[in-house]
Amino acid sequence: MTFSKVAVIGGGTMGNGIAQVFATCGSEVVLVDTQDAFLDRARETIEKNLSRMVRKERLTSDEAAAAMDRITFTTSMDGAQAAELAIEAVPEVLDIKSDIFERLDGILGEDAIIASNTSSISITVLASRTRRPEKVIGMHFMNPVPVMKLVEVIRGHKTSDETNDRILAACKELGKTPAVSNDYPGFVANRILLPMINEACFALMEGVATREDIDTIMKLGMNHPMGPLTLADFIGLDVCLNILRVLHEGLGDPKYRPCPLLVRMVDAGLLGRKSGRGFYEYGS
Ligand code: NAD
Repeated sequence: MTFSKVAVIGGGTMGNGIAQVFATCGSEVVLVDTQDAFLDRARETIEKNLSRMVRKERLTSDEAAAAMDRITFTTSMDGAQAAELAIEAVPEVLDIKSDIFERLDGILGEDAIIASNTSSISITVLASRTRRPEKVIGMHFMNPVPVMKLVEVIRGHKTSDETNDRILAACKELGKTPAVSNDYPGFVANRILLPMINEACFALMEGVATREDIDTIMKLGMNHPMGPLTLADFIGLDVCLNILRVLHEGLGDPKYRPCPLLVRMVDAGLLGRKSGRGFYEYGS
């Protein structure tokens, strides 16, 4: 592996998946979160995912046990000290991420790379919080991390070619396919996906079609695995709204204005699957 020691900061939905894929490929991983309870949950999720891979004969039970042994769980950021690559996967809040970047910059060796899994925050802004902007990069893994092939790699304004090349090599070693984007609002994935979801919201709001028909037309007509409203519920309507606001503010183009129906649903607490109701209803 290009990186034999990796730190992952934040062991939630994305962080535990990132820790799992690196450990499965042979890196020693330190997973940092703020509370033991969150680390316990991350450990359980990884154990469950590895067991499923053993059942499907994608890993032997010895390989799964070895991967688990390579992960250290800690609430101390100092545990990340020896990492050659640190990947931040904490909530999508600039202040929280900036604080992590400053702290990592202070404790990591000078050659270490700091990556962010952000969906929409500027890599250039995060890099500016460090003394190593050429060694800061975006690694935008997709959910669920162990399953999804793509890593959108985002080059900040000062990211060096060497940093980019090392991260592309690491993605390939993980069995992923990297694709590179420059640092503009929403990068590529969300810049193209979110306007489609937003347009589906407008179509629903204007009564062009029912939620089911909008989803069926896009799913079967465009060969998408799920319709845009189902996908919005899966992502979280608050997350969708937040990314649309980043696109609208960052690019200044009215075509990115969030659909009023989406805004109203978020205000009403209808956030999709995670709240039990969004465009569709979900049993608890
Ligand atoms: P999450 O809320 O599931 O997990 C975040 C974790 O970070 C939590 O376990 C939390 O306790 C921990 N955390 C918070 N503050 C911390 C700190 N100071 N130090 C260490 N840990 C801390 O969030 P997530 O869905 O995993 O998202 C993480 C990042 O990945 C975000 O930037 C998000 O935009 C991005 N992302 C998410 C998805 C997705 O589908 N969930 C997809 C791609 C990218």
